[in-house]
Amino acid sequence: MRTHIGEVLALFREHRELSRTDVIDLSGLSRSTVNQRLAALEASGLIEQIGGGESTGGRPSSRFVFNADRARLLTADVGATGLVAAVCDLSGTPVRWVSRRVDVWEGPDAVLSVVDDAFDELLQGEDVWGVGIGVPGPVDFAAGEVVNPPIMTGWDRFDIRGWFARFGVPVMVENDANARAVAEAHQRHVDDLISLKVGTGIGSGLVFNGQIIRGGEGAAGDIGHTAAVASGDGEPLACRCGNAGCVEAYAGGWAILRDLAAAGVEAEHVSDVVALVRRGEGTAVRLVRQAGRVLGDAVADLVSILNPRTIVLSGQLAECEEVLLSGVRERVYQRSQPLATRHLSITVSELGEVAGVAGLALTTSERLLGTDDIDTLIDRLGVSDGLATG
Ligand SMILES: [Zn+2]
Repeated sequence: MRTHIGEVLALFREHRELSRTDVIDLSGLSRSTVNQRLAALEASGLIEQIGGGESTGGRPSSRFVFNADRARLLTADVGATGLVAAVCDLSGTPVRWVSRRVDVWEGPDAVLSVVDDAFDELLQGEDVWGVGIGVPGPVDFAAGEVVNPPIMTGWDRFDIRGWFARFGVPVMVENDANARAVAEAHQRHVDDLISLKVGTGIGSGLVFNGQIIRGGEGAAGDIGHTAAVASGDGEPLACRCGNAGCVEAYAGGWAILRDLAAAGVEAEHVSDVVALVRRGEGTAVRLVRQAGRVLGDAVADLVSILNPRTIVLSGQLAECEEVLLSGVRERVYQRSQPLATRHLSITVSELGEVAGVAGLALTTSERLLGTDDIDTLIDRLGVSDGLATG
């Protein structure tokens, strides 16, 4: 019987440091139950006793703190043309990370091998309790697989979990934009947020009422392949998904590279676009500002329908900051209902390149330490009924 152990741990994950009395007050559990649960959590190493509490009746009261360094989570945020791999603590904070250039079209074997190498490089002999992998395509979250990805050749139903079986721990697979949305909502303490990832491609993650909106097939938020509001008179531009006229075909990093090439401006990667914009190169500035408008049009209806508190942009193109933001703001304020935009903030991520890995770590730690699954972990650690067994 380990009922309520997850609830007690959840209090520590939220408040970090609590006294025994705090836990009794916050949980509403009896003193004896709380004592047992605290003993079990202490034996598992998930909480630690610390000194310096206020005293009650001459005896120092015990205070406990969540031990986020008890083990590590390995996360990798795979984008279309680059990835960030990280070692994170149990509270979802990246501790060490590296970024690598990869091409998602080379397929899962090539890309996941790069992830493997990065993990080996980052790990310093620590215990690994979970792995979280983010990918730029629709994910069947329960199965941990990519499904019908428009751009990820070879990834359809690939066994990503099996790839990381060597760690012998749960492996979570998540859409990259969803992972970012989770991290942003957590960092900003907001329950209603749209996160736009603007890199080579464009994705969005929706968190409403504090929950990710995945949709029936895990395909929710695929804003990059919705129809762009006609920009210009010509034929709709071809998209890499096979359709024409998609938002990505006007505002994605690859589309801007295409247009720069057509204008005779040299740029090979999205990072080159950012560098050009920072330098004030005219064509690049104009294209990125226009991309912002296309994005703004795409997200404006969502603002009216869902009424988010925050729209946050991340991904490499978001490093263009105001040049991209101004276009998004212009169109959202023009096209959305005033009530929906009264308290709306449209901003660039403060998490930068670790937004994805941080979100993956949060999702993975919730899976491991959340109330539904904590028993499995406590079993594995050999702690039972409030007493350490070894
Ligand atoms: Zn498309």
